[in-house]
Amino acid sequence: MSQAVLILIKPDGLKKSLTGNILTRLSETKLEIVAAKMVRVSAELAKEHYKHLEDKPFFGEIIKYLQGELHDRKKVMALVYWGEDAIKKCRELAGATNPEEADSTSIRGSYGRITTSGVYENVIHVSSNQSEAEREIKLWFSPDEIIVDLYPTKDLACKEAAKKVWG
Ligand code: UDP
Ligand code: MG
Repeated sequence: MSQAVLILIKPDGLKKSLTGNILTRLSETKLEIVAAKMVRVSAELAKEHYKHLEDKPFFGEIIKYLQGELHDRKKVMALVYWGEDAIKKCRELAGATNPEEADSTSIRGSYGRITTSGVYENVIHVSSNQSEAEREIKLWFSPDEIIVDLYPTKDLACKEAAKKVWG
């Protein structure tokens, strides 16, 4: 079954110059990239993304981590991959959440680490199931940033809003 999955190259992945390596590994899946952009992550976006973990003791740290406050890289690269069994294929390549338990040839096993304060810096986010993927893709992307029609859309009439254009 074809499905979409949200991938984030987290700030440690960017700081360690792993973007190319990670995209090369992901290309082994033969999935299609249907959206990609760099994002400066607000506290609001990070908290919404990880809202299922808000009761965990490490919640505050992973919010800082996703925002880039631990790596002096205040951005992530967000992508949507699409194709047959996309979630399973990408999660397998990513490896286990804990980089020490991840298969050593997986992305997290190759490049992740556990910090002295206990955060799993595992260089990549991959949606965990289809409903999470839909929730996350709708959170990170607007319909016109994705080159295929993944989910139903509606037209919203709105007054001309102020927007930045090239000077
Ligand atoms: N995380 C952590 N310690 C934990 C569990 C999770 O630092 O004990 C971090 C880790 O960076 C992970 C993120 O929180 O990627 C989200 O956790 P989740 O359980 O959703 O794991 P994932 O889906 O990313 O494998
Ligand atoms: Mg998860």
